[in-house]
This record gives sequence, structure tokens and C-alpha cells, in this order.
Amino acid sequence: MADCTFCKIIAGELPSTNVYRDKLVTAFRDIHPAAPTHILIVPNKHIESVNTLAEEDEPLIGHLFTVAKQIAAQEGVAENGYRLVTNTNAHAGQTVFHIHMHLLGGTRMKGLAG
Ligand code: AMP
Ligand code: ZN
Repeated sequence: MADCTFCKIIAGELPSTNVYRDKLVTAFRDIHPAAPTHILIVPNKHIESVNTLAEEDEPLIGHLFTVAKQIAAQEGVAENGYRLVTNTNAHAGQTVFHIHMHLLGGTRMKGLAG
């Protein structure tokens, strides 16, 4: 997808600090970390958001979770805990329209109710 930051990262056209890569997904450190551990887990295939997911994407989305589990262990945050977040559109603050999962950890986070 032209003009997609994450497609460019996946293609190696933009720099990134990768922590994981396989046939289906790439994971790299967020450029503006919101927690001591902040990693983005991104399908190699361009999908805009949860709103444009297709039924055929279900195994891919399931894979994001098992990769998240592996990365959490690798980063040493699995036991204390971590948060997985996927923002969709304006009210959630989605800024990159290539679906991704944030993995946040390394500190105690506020509850979602604030
Ligand atoms: P979201 O707001 O859920 O769409 O998340 C997009 C995330 O991508 C933000 O946390 C940004 O800091 C992060 N981001 C944007 N550009 C880059 C980049 N070139 N490398 C790493 N992370 C990025
Ligand atoms: Zn993309």
C-alpha cells in the first residue's frame, strides 16, 4: 500500500527496531513509547483497521495474540503483566491506518476507566 508508514517499515523502506518477524507479522518498537516496553505487532498484509477485517483474516488476527505472548515473554513483562490495545478510527485515536496491536508493559498502568 503506497503511503502507508507500516507497509514501508515492513518492506524495509523506513527504519525500525524489529523485535520479531515471520511470514505473517512484523513487530517493532514504537517510536514514541507510552510505556517502558511498547511494541507494535503488525500484519505484513495491509488491512486498514478492525472495521475492514474479513472473516478470512481470523487466523492472522489470532496469530497476533500468540506472537504478543511470545514477545511479552521475550521482553520480560509476561509475569507482571501487559496490555494489548488496538485503536480503531478517530474516537480511539488511530493515527496509522494499517491495523496493529500495541503491546504495553514494564509499568503498572491505570485502569481503563482512568
Ligand atoms: P495508533 O495511534 O493506534 O494508530 O498507533 C500508531 C503508533 O505508531 C503510535 O504509537 C506511533 O508512535 C507509532 N508510530 C508511528 N510511526 C512510527 C514509526 N515510523 N516507527 C515506529 N512507530 C511509529
Ligand atoms: Zn500498510
